[in-house]
Amino acid sequence: MGRRPRGAAVRGGGCAVVFRGGGGVIRANVFLPAVILRSAPYTLELKHAFGIASNTRTSTPATLVEVEHDGIVGHGEAAMPPYLGESQATAAAFHAQAAALLAGARDPFCLEELVPAIDALAPGNAAAKAAVDLALHDWIGKKLGAPWHRIWGLDARKAPVTSYTIGLDTPEIVREKTREAAIYKIIKVKLGRGRDIDRMMIDTIREVTDVPITVDANQGWTDRAEALAMIEWLAGRNVDFIEQPMPKGQAADTAWLKARSPLPLVADESCQRLADVARCAEAFHGINIKLMKCTGLREAQKMIVLARALGLKVMLGCMTETSCAISAAAQLSPLVDWADLDGAVLIRNDCFDGATIVDGKITLNERPGLGVTKKAAA
Ligand SMILES: [Mg+2]
Repeated sequence: MGRRPRGAAVRGGGCAVVFRGGGGVIRANVFLPAVILRSAPYTLELKHAFGIASNTRTSTPATLVEVEHDGIVGHGEAAMPPYLGESQATAAAFHAQAAALLAGARDPFCLEELVPAIDALAPGNAAAKAAVDLALHDWIGKKLGAPWHRIWGLDARKAPVTSYTIGLDTPEIVREKTREAAIYKIIKVKLGRGRDIDRMMIDTIREVTDVPITVDANQGWTDRAEALAMIEWLAGRNVDFIEQPMPKGQAADTAWLKARSPLPLVADESCQRLADVARCAEAFHGINIKLMKCTGLREAQKMIVLARALGLKVMLGCMTETSCAISAAAQLSPLVDWADLDGAVLIRNDCFDGATIVDGKITLNERPGLGVTKKAAA
């Protein structure tokens, strides 16, 4: 776009330009370059096979997205664990629709219009939507020359420590993974495959370290009395909180558990998007926000505001992701109580440099946008 006349302002979607001058207001349609969206599949290779209550896997399908406008490229990412129902094919189809929408939008700054319009293109597709939201945020930050934590007015020094996740595995592997996690101040453990295996996981970790543990049952406990007994056992073993103890369809049982649990309960599968937050207050003490569930930073920030108004604790989580999506979440991390943003250190082919983990703490940089640069070889 060429130099704008003095006093000019871009309105609406950026197509109509308003010139204010001595003779009044003149509206004119001028040429503005289109917003270009590109996407490409990328498979994240895990360092270790990763087990949760429902499955085990060695890779995660992802899609990388770029938004280009006015000579600036913003980066985004969709990470799509197969059990959530999205794939590289569904992301490609969705991004073709999003590209057509953005080609007519022309002003990437108009997030309050663009993000709902992208959301309305199709139901579901949360990770594919997040990839576009992230790329738009990265573009805006780069255009402004500021990282998003600064745009939001946050103090990078208040970024929390992150937990390091250990999946369900044999005692030998769990011991090895726990030793590898020595820099982390909190360990997150995946449970939910039955009392004996769950207790083995905790006892094995406790052979190696006394650091606080957070437990993610991934909906694996279906009997509320047994769940309560397990939580009471965990409460004596330096456990901070329990993530999604019961299936999301058992909200009444989870509310029963909340009334009796000696440890806070945090909603993950029960809390996908902004509309879920208020009902989670009945059965949980907090919510786990993930960009890939909630369609991106715009909605995540609103979820944090609503959760705080309802008196809920807030956790920021992730899938296995590159440093692109992890750095995006890290921009919000000074606002939350707990973070589990270890997704990039769990993969062997991270194609971005971004926020890092130093001595267990999320460490933001001052690069603009999401704070990411794409590695040359990727
Ligand atoms: Mg979880």
